[in-house]
Amino acid sequence: MRSKALTCSQCQKTLYLLSEDSDLCVCPYCGKSNVLNTSSPLIEGLIPEMMSIIMIGSKFQWNDKEYTVNGRILFLCENGYLMFWYAIAAAGKVWLYESNQDYAVIEKMDDNGLPNLFKGKEIGNKMMYNKEKYLVEFYDQVTETYGEGEAKSLGEIKSKTIVIRCTTLESKVIFAFVIDKLKATILSGTYTSAIDLKLKNTRNVDAWNF
Ligand SMILES: [Zn+2]
Repeated sequence: MRSKALTCSQCQKTLYLLSEDSDLCVCPYCGKSNVLNTSSPLIEGLIPEMMSIIMIGSKFQWNDKEYTVNGRILFLCENGYLMFWYAIAAAGKVWLYESNQDYAVIEKMDDNGLPNLFKGKEIGNKMMYNKEKYLVEFYDQVTETYGEGEAKSLGEIKSKTIVIRCTTLESKVIFAFVIDKLKATILSGTYTSAIDLKLKNTRNVDAWNF
């Protein structure tokens, strides 16, 4: 299953993308971030540490469908990290969020969202989003961005971009990356667990270089 090929802009090797929607491919040979359809690469290189049992080729279940992980973007923040695995199924594509054994499946990405709602929010604040009550549970600032494999870009997230994570009592979660005064990337999804994901083809724990 290959849908498009490109030539790495640095080492000139041919790279194959599985999804038409992917616009980011970190070259496995030289680490160069190749970006299609957008002017903002922003990826500083290959993931410096594995930080996960999930890897490219891992599989998980969501809504009775099997997704295959094909790449990821890792945001290192001042106080933590956020990892978004890009996963593909015949039914569509999702992001699998992971941080400290927390998992959520992100089904919606709006890279032209409005940041006003998140202005001045702090951990513990309540807010309304799409007519639902959310609690701000994470507030941080991106310091570095890394990538691996093939993914869909999450917008012009750069160093110092503020990221806010909010959740409902029913395990819905949103991430708001505030790009500037007019624009935010907003990801919406649902918390899940490693058990419910029925993860397969994971990395051998011995191989962690964390
Ligand atoms: Zn390359």
